[in-house]
This record gives sequence, C-alpha cells and structure tokens, in this order.
Amino acid sequence: MAEQEVLYNGSSKVVYKGEGEDIIIRFKDYIAAFYNIKGANIENKGIMNCRISSMVLRYLNDNGIATHFVEQVSDTEQRCHRVKHIPIEVIVRNVIAGSMAKRLGLDEGIVPENTIFDLCLRDSELGDPLINDHHAVALGLVSYEELAQIYAVSAKVNTLLTKLYDDAGIKLVDFKIEFGRAADGSLVLADELTPDTCRLWDVATGERMDKDRFRRDFGRVRETYEEVAQRLANLCNR
Ligand code: UDP
Repeated sequence: MAEQEVLYNGSSKVVYKGEGEDIIIRFKDYIAAFYNIKGANIENKGIMNCRISSMVLRYLNDNGIATHFVEQVSDTEQRCHRVKHIPIEVIVRNVIAGSMAKRLGLDEGIVPENTIFDLCLRDSELGDPLINDHHAVALGLVSYEELAQIYAVSAKVNTLLTKLYDDAGIKLVDFKIEFGRAADGSLVLADELTPDTCRLWDVATGERMDKDRFRRDFGRVRETYEEVAQRLANLCNR
C-alpha cells in the first residue's frame, strides 16, 4: 500500500490524507490525561473507541446532524470528510463534574435545571482556556451567527445522545465536541465522541464508564470501554 500522508499525529489518533477530500482517522490504544502528564496503552482501546465513535456519529448522521463521518473502514479506522477545523471545544454539561465542579467549588453529581454550554479555546499551551462568545468572535474564530448555530446543534446532539445513552442504561453527564467548516462553509460536527471525550455514569451503579477511570486510577479501563461499546452495539446494530 502506498505510504499515507500524515495530516495530524496526536496521542490517541492519527489522521491520514484519504482519497480526494477524505481523511482516514486511526484510533490508537494510547490514553493520555492532564496534557500528557499521564499516559498508558490500553489494549483494544483503539478498536473500542473507533467502534463507539462510529456508532455514535452514524446515529447522529441518521438523525439529521451533519457530521464528518462517512464509514468505518477497519477495526481502528474511519473514513471522514476533511473539514477546516475551528479551534474551539464546546463542552455540554447535564450534571456538574470535572473542571466545572473544581472551578466553582461544587460537588460532582449536582443536576442543574438548565443545560450548561462552555466554550474553550483549543490551545494546549494555554491549557485550553475557557472563553465566551465575544472572545470567540474577537479572535476571529467564528461569527455570532455561527455561534448560534453551534449552540443549536450542540443542544440537539445532547438531546439525541442523552436518549441513546439512556437506552443503554448510562447517564450522559457531559461531553466535548468540535466543529469544522465544509468546502461550502457550512458547519459540520468533527472529531470523536468516545468515553475519552464524554463523562458516562452507569445508571444502576453510578460507576464511571469513561476516561475518569484512567484519570483517577479507578482501574478496569479496558473492560469499561468494552462494556460501553457492547451496550451501544446492542442498541445500534439491532
Ligand atoms: N474534554 C475533552 N477534551 C478536553 C477537555 C474536556 O474531551 O480537552 C471532555 C471531558 O472528557 C469531559 C468534558 O469534556 O467529558 C468536560 O471536561 P471538563 O471541562 O470537566 O474537564 P476535565 O476535568 O475532564 O479535564
């Protein structure tokens, strides 16, 4: 096979140039936390995350969300449309946890009446700082009109994913998504949706089913990612 051009090589994914305007994303077994201060190889994590993200993005595509996902092409690889990435992380929170709990001195597990949307600048050297709409526009990253669309799509993604995970017996606590622009300028959901980028709590036991197992040394990371993949497969593949 011809050597593929690497467009991006991150800790948990490699992105290659594909045919025409496509890219190939390969999921790695590596898991990194705290800006790579902590990392490890988790056997089969690449397979699990590729499977999970493919099922979730396919489900979103089928439900009217424009995503970059086209198809899963191997155990660890997806074919996606290439988009111009917008360096903003949109975090959607249904339950208080993680950085928000810490920053505001709140207990994890509080359920707010409203859905919370955070914007962070994607800049690891600055520690992905929290920004607001006006910062995002002033930095030239998006227009106010695009922001309105980003919030609307993020809310719809939240409704759809909350339902999917609920059917799997999992509480969708929070998640991070990113957007890009297609050739015609339209906004497209890009990147991954996996237990690396979502907080997932088992409804029955309250057990963490996401990267917090690694961040906080709860153990059974591989088994938990496999369980998430299996529960989603039971719903998505029937
Ligand atoms: N998240 C992510 N990438 C980031 C920051 C956050 O995927 O660079 C996800 C994280 O896994 C969680 C949600 O976004 O599901 C909210 O993360 P939070 O702001 O609480 O930060 P954390 O404490 O997880 O770093």
